[in-house]
Amino acid sequence: MKQSIKKAAVIGSGVMGSGIAAHLANVGIPTLLLDIVPNKLTDDEEKKGLTLSDKVVRNRIVQSSLQKLLKQKPAPLTTKSNLQLIEAGNLEDDIEKLKDCDWIIEVIVENLEVKKSLFEKVDQHRKPGSIVSSNTSGISVEAMSEGRSEDFQKNFLGTHFFNPPRYLKLLEVIPTKNTDPAVVSFIKEFGENVLGKGIVLAKDTPNFIANRIGTYGLLVTVKEMLEGGYSVGEVDSVTGPLIGRPKSATFRTLDVVGLDTFIHVAKNVYDKVEGAEKEVFNIPSFMQTMQQNGWLGSKSGQGFYLKQ
Ligand code: NAD
Repeated sequence: MKQSIKKAAVIGSGVMGSGIAAHLANVGIPTLLLDIVPNKLTDDEEKKGLTLSDKVVRNRIVQSSLQKLLKQKPAPLTTKSNLQLIEAGNLEDDIEKLKDCDWIIEVIVENLEVKKSLFEKVDQHRKPGSIVSSNTSGISVEAMSEGRSEDFQKNFLGTHFFNPPRYLKLLEVIPTKNTDPAVVSFIKEFGENVLGKGIVLAKDTPNFIANRIGTYGLLVTVKEMLEGGYSVGEVDSVTGPLIGRPKSATFRTLDVVGLDTFIHVAKNVYDKVEGAEKEVFNIPSFMQTMQQNGWLGSKSGQGFYLKQ
């Protein structure tokens, strides 16, 4: 049977999930975008007399991600009408809708146990033959699919988009030993010809290729900065504008990625290496303090820089 993607689902509407949903909408694919249900009312919701069971509250996380997307300049949606191709909802109320989707992409927090528990639910609600993939930055793809049905495992792989998904061309595709080769070929072809990506097949090793190199390089830079007594601004100048990379300086990139996500991703390697290399992946205490303070970058309004 020739595979096609008539409808997709993206689970997790944060920095990456909302961007991936926008990219799918831009190529004309109707996309269900789901997130979790909030467990607390905001002050504003309380003032309006809303409760946790009101739909507007239950869908608040994904809706606020979409609002943030629309405010970005340049907007990740090529036209405003593409927004209509994105159906927002929450996992509890809308999980049945996964059975209409040909490709379900998981884009939630970088944590093996949380991802595994989501895949258990997805396995129960997806249609047989649908492709399921994870946008993990570097958790073992095979470990995420442990315990799942044979059909799930055949159709499961890693599809690692880069931030921001609309602009960065790289898509790492990570099959496991159980992934059907026809699914890998399909995703490679679809990724290249429909999504406009440059596909790199990666092995299922911690942080795959780009993040294995990227997290190492960034953490070495931070350690050199601390030892040399340099400032964030100095490092960003010499790793950014001064060498012709206006938007990709070290700490500006961290603000775009999100410090919590970066720390989770570095931990993927920390847990697997020894000796001097482990030392590099040991997150400096000032970064841990920033995470505890909620200074996560653009998504929280403040990171190494204040959001402009
Ligand atoms: P994020 O923190 O911006 O968003 C995560 C979203 O997942 C949040 O909206 C949260 O409410 C939701 N979520 C958490 N637990 C959930 C659950 N059980 N069910 C449904 N939704 C849940 O994170 P992000 O930066 O978008 O990263 C998501 C994934 O993509 C991670 O695996 C990360 O490693 C990977 N990734 C991130 C980047 C990046 O630059 N930020 C780049 C490539 C890959």
